[in-house]
Amino acid sequence: MRKPLYAANWKMNKTGAETRMFFEKFLPKVKSRTDADILIAPPFTSIIDAIDADESERMIIAAQNMHFEADGAFTGEISAAMLNELGCTAVILGHSERRHVFGEDDDMINRKNVAAIAAGLIPVFCVGEKIEQRELGKTQEVLETQITDGLKDIPEGNLAQLVIAYEPVWAIGTGHTATPDQAQEAHLYIRSLVGTLYSNELSNSARILYGGSAKPSNISELMAQPDVDGVLVGGASLDPDSFAAIVNHD
Ligand code: PEP
Repeated sequence: MRKPLYAANWKMNKTGAETRMFFEKFLPKVKSRTDADILIAPPFTSIIDAIDADESERMIIAAQNMHFEADGAFTGEISAAMLNELGCTAVILGHSERRHVFGEDDDMINRKNVAAIAAGLIPVFCVGEKIEQRELGKTQEVLETQITDGLKDIPEGNLAQLVIAYEPVWAIGTGHTATPDQAQEAHLYIRSLVGTLYSNELSNSARILYGGSAKPSNISELMAQPDVDGVLVGGASLDPDSFAAIVNHD
């Protein structure tokens, strides 16, 4: 039985003060949802506010990115050790905005996955096809390359907490959510690929999140799919009422 995971990607939104206000409103609303994990990924500068505000350590506080090197001349970058020191326990890696706006490739994302795991951080490893790739019938091919390359040389023993987020690029921030059937089809494919690359055991325990315009009005039908174990939410996670409605869905 996989524990559901509701993850918020705040992107470049919320100052420290806004982060504290969010937690003040959000925490009481999700108090009774004890059977699920909740992850919040604020911008780097608000991580410490999130950690302080989450006094009872109910949440998984994550970063939205990190560099794969331990230190060095990488202006503007943040290392895994720096996230550890803050108290982060997870990091979003390979988000489509990192891939397509900032030019991250599968090799770089692989190095980030390796470095995050070595530092004890749970990577929320994002994959997903562009609309033109879907229209050409290449969705599975794209997912296969991204996952095979992104997990390259990572032994199964290091993937006890594997989280993969399926985020079709055409659904992110567009209001065009994948249908529950489209999400299920992709998730099932990802799960079977994990089985082929590793084992049935890992394929059964890996949590696969859906991301792409998830919101209170579509969360129940997405979560009703057998291979959808949670969601990675951008826009609809910024408002405490909206994200709480997602976490507390029927
Ligand atoms: C995301 O940024 O990971 C995301 C899924 O965004 P949105 O929910 O706004 O589509």
